[in-house]
Amino acid sequence: MRADSIEHLRRFFGYDAFRGVQSSVVDRVLAGQRTLAVMPTGAGKSLTYQLPSVMLDGTCIVVSPLIALMHDQLRAAEAVGIRAATLTSVDDNRAETIERFRAGALDLLYIAPERASGEGFRNLLTQAPLSLFAIDEAHCVSEWGHDFRPDYRLLRPLLDRFPEVPRLALTATADAHTRADILEQLGIPEDGLIVAGFDRPNIRYHIAPRENTTRQIIDVVAENPGPGIVYAQTRKGVEQLAEKLAAETGRPVLPYHAGLDPEVRRRNQARFVASEDMVVVATVAFGMGIDKPDVRFVAHAGLPKSIEAYYQETGRAGRDGDPSVAHLFWGADDFARARQRIGEVEPARQPGERARLTALGALVETAGCRRRILLKHFGEDAPETCGNCDNCLNPPAAIDASVTAQKFLSAVFRTGMLYGVGYIEGILTGVSSERSLMNGHEKLSVFGIVDGDEVAMLKPVSRALLLRDALRTNEHGGLEFGPEARPILKGEAKLELVLPPKRERRRRGAKGS
Ligand code: ADP
Ligand code: ZN
Repeated sequence: MRADSIEHLRRFFGYDAFRGVQSSVVDRVLAGQRTLAVMPTGAGKSLTYQLPSVMLDGTCIVVSPLIALMHDQLRAAEAVGIRAATLTSVDDNRAETIERFRAGALDLLYIAPERASGEGFRNLLTQAPLSLFAIDEAHCVSEWGHDFRPDYRLLRPLLDRFPEVPRLALTATADAHTRADILEQLGIPEDGLIVAGFDRPNIRYHIAPRENTTRQIIDVVAENPGPGIVYAQTRKGVEQLAEKLAAETGRPVLPYHAGLDPEVRRRNQARFVASEDMVVVATVAFGMGIDKPDVRFVAHAGLPKSIEAYYQETGRAGRDGDPSVAHLFWGADDFARARQRIGEVEPARQPGERARLTALGALVETAGCRRRILLKHFGEDAPETCGNCDNCLNPPAAIDASVTAQKFLSAVFRTGMLYGVGYIEGILTGVSSERSLMNGHEKLSVFGIVDGDEVAMLKPVSRALLLRDALRTNEHGGLEFGPEARPILKGEAKLELVLPPKRERRRRGAKGS
């Protein structure tokens, strides 16, 4: 390590030591090597370019996608004595900033990616020495990533115009495939990849199928007295859940979503940050940039967008290092809806979206350690068991449900792929109804083929079939075959089912105890 980097760390930032991989990243940058740093939120990414920017001659150009965040970062940098400026469409001091840059009076210059393509801007950059290109939110350059922004593709020609200036790409969220793509797109060698530890050992992960969402969330709130965040999928879902939680738990509860007046939103957020027992029910917009270290639980009332999103959203719990929990309640319809959405995005992005959904499916469906799946997703090795997730604490049984799945699929097939889960269950268990009589379905060989213990497996089997795309729901709610149906019917693929352990008795309405 360069001897003077600690000295600058103290002088500018007031920190005594680097955290985690910060020192390796800073070392590479100071040595002029191209680098991709993958570090979780809160790990201290900004320091890895801000510190070099004051140690190296010339200006560090920082590419950042969000103007609002840029201005936050500008204020933070200026507060520690770094000479910084932003050059965006909303800045009216652009002429002054350009003068400061030309005079070599800037350590950091923040720009939006679309500026990178302008010939004028490229010429400007030749007029003063550059120390570094820092590319924030670098996953935006990858179509495989979850937040592709075409403007990021304009960066490469700009970077290549200054091949001797080191490049530092930064992101909090990148699976192995996206990482490889970032390296390629930004011209960074494979050995330039530095990945920080992603484990959050104090967060206990719980994932369960949705039965009665409101009841399940009420239980979570009742069991966790500290501040918490509940994520719902729609504004209406937020409003309804917030009302019920307030009525049934006696806790202070506030809603938060983009449809609320900005002033109300700001006030609700401030009250949450100051509170020791408040529950915020929110859409995923909530939590970005809020700094509340003592959030004790995060509960998802529906499937998040990706493993990255799940990690990011659950990661808002327990920043203080104290024990915290993350609960996720999912339904087969979440997967059906996600698949439908994927069908609507541009074809080039569909394989990435599909892989993301498959990875989420594996996480919710596993009988193994949740943490291991999360960490492996971020390219980290992890032990078989963590001792702090639902499956490690209370190992579920996995059974082979292939035969029941075959019965279910053949009932769907023989009834013409027109009916929903309830009707198929009725056929399989031999429940006679006017409809099944009129349809002639009571004469089918599958009518009444399921009884005894197998009856209880029909719901979880249908859920598993929907999750892995063996079944799909059409627009009328009828079940039809997906691509994974045939292999199961033919006995070429198995359907394993995870049976949750007997639920411990929950402390309901623990208020008076
Ligand atoms: P990220 O961008 O990775 O989410 P930030 O750069 O915003 O993270 O840093 C997160 C917090 O950690 C900030 O409050 C920052 O001041 C603090 N921080 C960063 N590096 C250090 C360090 N070496 N020692 C102590 N605190 C640090
Ligand atoms: Zn585990």
